[in-house]
Amino acid sequence: MPDDDIAREAARRQASHDHHASNRTLRRDQDGVYANRIGLRGEEAWCREFGGKVDLTPRPGGDGGRDAWITIGGRRHPVDCKTANAPKELIVEVERRGKPVCKPNTIYVLCGYNPDRDRAHLLGWQWGHVLMQSWPKSHGYGVMNYWQARGQLQKIDELHRLAKTPLGIALLAEAERNRPRPFRGCCIVCGQPGLYVGWYCEDHRVW
Ligand SMILES: [Zn+2]
Repeated sequence: MPDDDIAREAARRQASHDHHASNRTLRRDQDGVYANRIGLRGEEAWCREFGGKVDLTPRPGGDGGRDAWITIGGRRHPVDCKTANAPKELIVEVERRGKPVCKPNTIYVLCGYNPDRDRAHLLGWQWGHVLMQSWPKSHGYGVMNYWQARGQLQKIDELHRLAKTPLGIALLAEAERNRPRPFRGCCIVCGQPGLYVGWYCEDHRVW
């Protein structure tokens, strides 16, 4: 594994956490051996796609569920990257110590971690308020999570489009170029003339 700033900060956080953690949270972290490193690799993957820099300043109380920000329609939204080995679901804790963890206007991003390359990549995303419509379930440790299956998540390209990143603007322009134009013609079923996108009137439209 590359000996870089992220690896070093992950090791430092792990050591600090081991020192302070309760038995229960310690057990949870031993399960995900490189929990901190994996998490930082997820944040790194976010920065590769959406810009910004991984915050390597020590955060004793955790990151408060905020790894980055993204602006959509003029409003800034917190981004929280959830990174795991071969994740099947995006999961967010319902509450911790009686306080709600999953936030409606936060964008949660699922990241997959590849241990061979010590590298993560973005798999999909979802709004907190959508996750909060799920029926919470436990994935172990007696912790209840909101969740969505990986295959149901929104695509990363869609987030680029919503945030109007350079890639998103290019994708929107491409979609606009490929959008069918309305034209004057006659329905190929009934012959009724009109302004159509396809060759069908409203009565015979097949989409
Ligand atoms: Zn027709």
